[in-house]
Amino acid sequence: MAYVNLVTGGAGFIGSHLCEALLARGEQVLCVDNFFTGRKQNIAHLLTNPYFELVRHDITSPLMLEVDRIYNFACPASPVHYQYNPVKTIKTNVMGALNMLGLAKRVKARILQASTSEVYGDPTVHPQVESYWGNVNPIGIRSCYDEGKRVAEALFFDYHRQNKVDIRVIRIFNTYGPRMLVNDGRVVSNFVVQALRNQPITLYGDGSQTRSFCFVNDLIDGIIRMMNCEGFTGPVNLGNPGEFTIKELAEQVIELTGSSSTLEYRPLPENDPTRRQPNITLAQEKLGWAPSVPLREGLKTTIDYFDTLLKTE
Ligand code: NAD
Ligand code: UDP
Repeated sequence: MAYVNLVTGGAGFIGSHLCEALLARGEQVLCVDNFFTGRKQNIAHLLTNPYFELVRHDITSPLMLEVDRIYNFACPASPVHYQYNPVKTIKTNVMGALNMLGLAKRVKARILQASTSEVYGDPTVHPQVESYWGNVNPIGIRSCYDEGKRVAEALFFDYHRQNKVDIRVIRIFNTYGPRMLVNDGRVVSNFVVQALRNQPITLYGDGSQTRSFCFVNDLIDGIIRMMNCEGFTGPVNLGNPGEFTIKELAEQVIELTGSSSTLEYRPLPENDPTRRQPNITLAQEKLGWAPSVPLREGLKTTIDYFDTLLKTE
């Protein structure tokens, strides 16, 4: 069936790849974005497709549409951007989720929420499994995002229990790839852009904190499998279990770019999680999904993307 999909945050990094993948499957896409961190360039190549529509709209306000499926991705994901206006970040997460769940309830659409590994906070269980409830500071500078996403998950499950809304919840771990912003502020884009410009690589703390990096194409495959999976609400982790220290990431980026950049140590931001690695057993069992792109390969593609972009600046 050629579903009509609503993708909120569809002009953003992950959202634009998702719109593209859905169109390639022969489905229709309504892309909704307020262009806070999204860009028209990310979806410019889709605008001539008759099955693609773009709506400039902020999901903190209600939206009346008729759709079969909703992918709720609207929310700035970089700490720099979500901390720029933290109250707005909470509104986007909470009021946005309420508006999209209300829409799903009215039109009986299946709705998938882009949740995050941040619901685990600074985890005391490693690697993180879905049954772990997390270790989250409710009043810190990351709380607008972490707690906002936790409330959104609570709303999804309450709408499911109370109103029988057909929900899917995925917990995305650090994802990277083409179409991240040059000034995104997240670690992969920062390091790649700094290395290509031969500028110092900004390592926060001593660089011993870890993250697990998933290439965007792998994530998109997991998202679509989850949306099409019957009888499984999640939450399910989607991420690459390969765990690297931030210093190791910096060294790989320098090597792959052949850069003359040096490492510059900066203070560690408040509440920066120490370790993060997904346990993806559930995704493997329920979705038959596992990522296939190793960090080195994904980094090469990302470096090529930023190299071309910076040359046209
Ligand atoms: P992004 O910042 O590139 O994309 C977010 C998009 O949402 C942008 O296009 C932005 O303009 C739009 N947006 C923000 N607030 C909005 C609002 N109120 N109304 C309408 N549109 C709004 O970030 P991304 O990396 O593509 O992340 C997309 C989603 O995935 C987010 O919900 C994020 O929390 C989640 N996620 C991403 C990662 C990751 O590593 N990239 C990890 C975990 C979760
Ligand atoms: N980081 C860094 N230098 C940068 C940007 C980020 O050392 O220029 C570190 C950051 O402190 C964190 C990790 O890289 O430990 C991942 O940060 P990011 O903002 O990408 O995402 P997070 O997983 O923290 O939400």
